Parts: sequence; structure tokens; C-alpha cells
Amino acid sequence: MTERKGKLFIISAPSGAGKTTLAERAVKTLPRLKRSISLTTRVPRNGEKSGCDYVFVDTAEFKDKIRQGKMLEYARVFGNYYGTPRDGVEKDLKNNFDVLLCIDVQGAMKIRKKFKQDAIFIFIIPPSLKDLRERLGKRKANSRAEIEERLAVARHELTYLKNYDYGVVNDDLESAFKKLCSIITAERCKVKGRK
Ligand code: 5GP
Repeated sequence: MTERKGKLFIISAPSGAGKTTLAERAVKTLPRLKRSISLTTRVPRNGEKSGCDYVFVDTAEFKDKIRQGKMLEYARVFGNYYGTPRDGVEKDLKNNFDVLLCIDVQGAMKIRKKFKQDAIFIFIIPPSLKDLRERLGKRKANSRAEIEERLAVARHELTYLKNYDYGVVNDDLESAFKKLCSIITAERCKVKGRK
């Protein structure tokens, strides 16, 4: 990574735990904070727009970007590719913006390897798997089989919590949001350790 001034925040959570809602609110509320828009090969859901929720591409284009070294990280999640484009993140960090990546645990561990202590890792924890099942059901974006798959993956993802710097239980959106903003604010005030 080239010269950078901003901080890199990584947010992971099991699907349906509310990380996108929290991240979007943080970006709207806190100054100097941007969210990286990921590339994915998954089909857009109802209402999703390319360039806004994700940049939707086909597998050939995604693989090209990998070959050209244009991805900061990528992973295969639920049978599709997802990844963070390198250019935008580098540019924002260089321009003194802090950047949020909402990515899965595999991608987060790749960033951990590259950045060591130079990125801040936050895990959004669902209050329970029962609660997560209800949220995924309400979202109406996944079939029953897909919900079961996402719950099995969630159980696995929760074992990665120990690799994160912070854990925020999302039992109440308002209080989880306050905690997330407090973490970002505290990290921005930090003198020792990280850049
Ligand atoms: P969904 O299809 O529900 O939007 O996302 C599925 C999973 O892919 C979520 O865990 C989400 O965090 C993850 N994801 C989204 N964008 C990226 C990315 O750029 N890189 C990685 N590694 N995971 C991502």
C-alpha cells in the first residue's frame, strides 16, 4: 500500500447481523469516513443498484481484476466472488479519509495479514442465532435453504471473533450504532500504536 493518512476500518458480521445498516449510518453521521463499494459476481437483489450497493460484474471480469492486481482482497462467499477494489481505497486513505470495508471473515483475515496492526477490526455480533434466523427470514432475500446455509456459515464466522479488535453486539440498533461510532472516534484520537 502506498503512502496513507486515513485509517482502515474492517467490519465483519454474519449475514443479517446488521453490519451494512450500521456502516451506512456511520458514513452518513461521521465526517471524513467513506465506505468502499465492493465488486461481486452475485446477482443484484431487488432494489440493489450497481455502483451503489455493489459493482455487479461477471466472473470473467472479476478474475481479470484479480490477475491485474486490482483487488486489495477477495473471497468466495456463498458461491460468488466478492472483493475490495484497491484503487479507490488507496486514493481515499491518501486523501485523509478513513475507509470502512464491510467484508467477510476470509477477506478480513487477508487484510489482517497485509496490514497487521495498521487496520482496525470490528465484529458485529448478532444477539443469538435464533435472532439471526428471524432477521434473515424478514429480509425475504433468501430461500429457506439459503437461510440455513447462512446460519451454518454464521456459526463458523463467530469463531473468528477472537481475531478482531472489537466486538459489538447488535441487540439494539441505536446502542450498537453508538458503540460503533465510539470505537471509530476513539481510534481517531489514538496517539500510541497505530498510525
Ligand atoms: P451479501 O450477498 O449478503 O450482500 O454478502 C455476503 C457476504 O459477502 C457478507 O458477509 C459480506 O460482508 C461479504 N462481502 C461483501 N463484500 C465483500 C468484499 O469486498 N470482500 C469480502 N471478502 N467479502 C465481502
